[in-house]
Amino acid sequence: MGEQGSVHPERSKQSVERSFYEWLKGLERAQVLVVSHVRPDGDALGAQTAMAQILKLFHIESVLVNEDAPPRRFDYLPGYRDMRRSVDTPLPGAPYQYVIFVDAADRERIGKALSLLAPEAEIVNIDHHATNDHYGHINLVKPEASSTCEVIYDWIRSTRLPVSVELATCLYTGYITDTGGFRYQNTTPKVLRDAAELVQFGASPYEIAEHALEAISWEKIKLLQKALATLKLFASGKIAFLEVTQSMLEETGTTLDDAEGLVHYGLNIEGVEVAALFREQTDGIKVSLRSRRAVDVSKVAQQFGGGGHVRAAGLTLHMPLDEAKRTMAETLLTVLHHVPLS
Ligand code: 5GP
Ligand code: MN
Repeated sequence: MGEQGSVHPERSKQSVERSFYEWLKGLERAQVLVVSHVRPDGDALGAQTAMAQILKLFHIESVLVNEDAPPRRFDYLPGYRDMRRSVDTPLPGAPYQYVIFVDAADRERIGKALSLLAPEAEIVNIDHHATNDHYGHINLVKPEASSTCEVIYDWIRSTRLPVSVELATCLYTGYITDTGGFRYQNTTPKVLRDAAELVQFGASPYEIAEHALEAISWEKIKLLQKALATLKLFASGKIAFLEVTQSMLEETGTTLDDAEGLVHYGLNIEGVEVAALFREQTDGIKVSLRSRRAVDVSKVAQQFGGGGHVRAAGLTLHMPLDEAKRTMAETLLTVLHHVPLS
């Protein structure tokens, strides 16, 4: 990105936080585009809607856009109904000069929404992916954070801005979804303390969990049945593969989003170290990788132009399903061969 207004890496985290605050201070009555990654998840949507609440405090108008529509289960989020798709027209104020990216490791992760940016757009990049490439003018990136919502909440603390019930609800959504209901390895004492604070501010753990994690449609159950029938183990039970094809989606009346989370059925089998879910998309095969202990799947994903976290990452392979499975099998067998497994 251009040098003007960029934050030098040697400056402390505190000054990045300050820069973002000052940037917002200077944008009173302006319009800011808030975008996130394709097929947005709970952390992406929680961070976008949280940002809309925050921008209101600065008298800034927000426009929330993604390439894909937000899943219905997140309709309790304040601001859910105002979310737009990048294909919607007209989008008020496009192209946008001021843009906040949340939960997007690189610029391309927002997909077609990239076309909404003005050529010299000022970009704030708020994220927690280790693979983030610092594409913004201001980069509030913390790989140690459990979620982008945690990065935002830490920033709010540094500003002493008030936390409303609405804001707490948005943030709690990112915490609960990216930690799998406070079960994954990113669940630290701090995460649990933050969550307790957000509940104190009025977020409802029961209601948010019911919507964001528990509720499951009949169609999704039918898809689960079909996907489980494809589950296979190999490498002495250390690798699990399962798949979701276009015809499964058609037969069950589901969308790709309904395949979210299915990879855990592979990972949760005793003895499995790495699980992969293969999803047939129009532009290729989307691979979701999950690792139990030893394997850094973000490195595997990066080899193929994807990214993510040590234990959860993703990539797209532009090849037929069978070839994609062969490619991943070979790669994962090599990786497993080189890591110490106790
Ligand atoms: P999922 O498998 O649930 O789609 O994604 C797991 C994690 O990897 C998420 O943090 C997601 O943002 C990241 N991820 C998934 N696909 C990609 C990709 O194609 N590129 C990058 N950079 N990150 C990805
Ligand atoms: Mn996230």
